[in-house]
Amino acid sequence: MSALSELYEEIAPCQLCELAKHRTKAVPGEGPEDADIMFIGEAPGWHEDQQGRPFVGPAGHFLDQLLASIGLGRGQVYIANVIKCRPMGNRDPLPSEILNCRQWLKRQMELICPKMIVTLGRYSMAEFFPGKTISKIHGTAQKRDNIIYYAMYHPAAALHQQSLRQTIEADMSRIPVLLSSVKTLAETESPPQQLSMFGD
Ligand code: URA
Repeated sequence: MSALSELYEEIAPCQLCELAKHRTKAVPGEGPEDADIMFIGEAPGWHEDQQGRPFVGPAGHFLDQLLASIGLGRGQVYIANVIKCRPMGNRDPLPSEILNCRQWLKRQMELICPKMIVTLGRYSMAEFFPGKTISKIHGTAQKRDNIIYYAMYHPAAALHQQSLRQTIEADMSRIPVLLSSVKTLAETESPPQQLSMFGD
């Protein structure tokens, strides 16, 4: 069994917070263990809770289209969420829930060692760009320890606010160039990878 599958087996019965009582399935994340890019959303919604898979509802369909627009399919990227279980009624995650769940996301990042981390929405952004505002930093990248951190609006935002659609598409279109710059760098130097998150 792969290290990622072992991790999923630990996440599935997690009882660290109240969300465990209301979930149908935990949604650990999915994608190849050697993915270059990791997309990190907020929390599972109804569809994800039913299927145990991330981004399979309307926001997920838009994410699929965005990935296709840069020549990628779901099988080539890793997709996870800050929170692994659905908050009841799709409410915002609580700080305590984010704190309890952080260990799972950290372990996923350590196993995957992505070259680029793309945050989708405010809650995911806050884990990597503490104190920042999404309207100011979306579409901007920060390189730390040879990993590119890149903030985007959540795909669901475009479904609620049509005017954001072009912004999200434009931000997505920058990913290939950013990724190739960090890949080129990784070939010339190979410093140890260190992942930095809020709370470290
Ligand atoms: N929204 C998220 O943030 N994550 C999902 O998995 C689905 C919708």
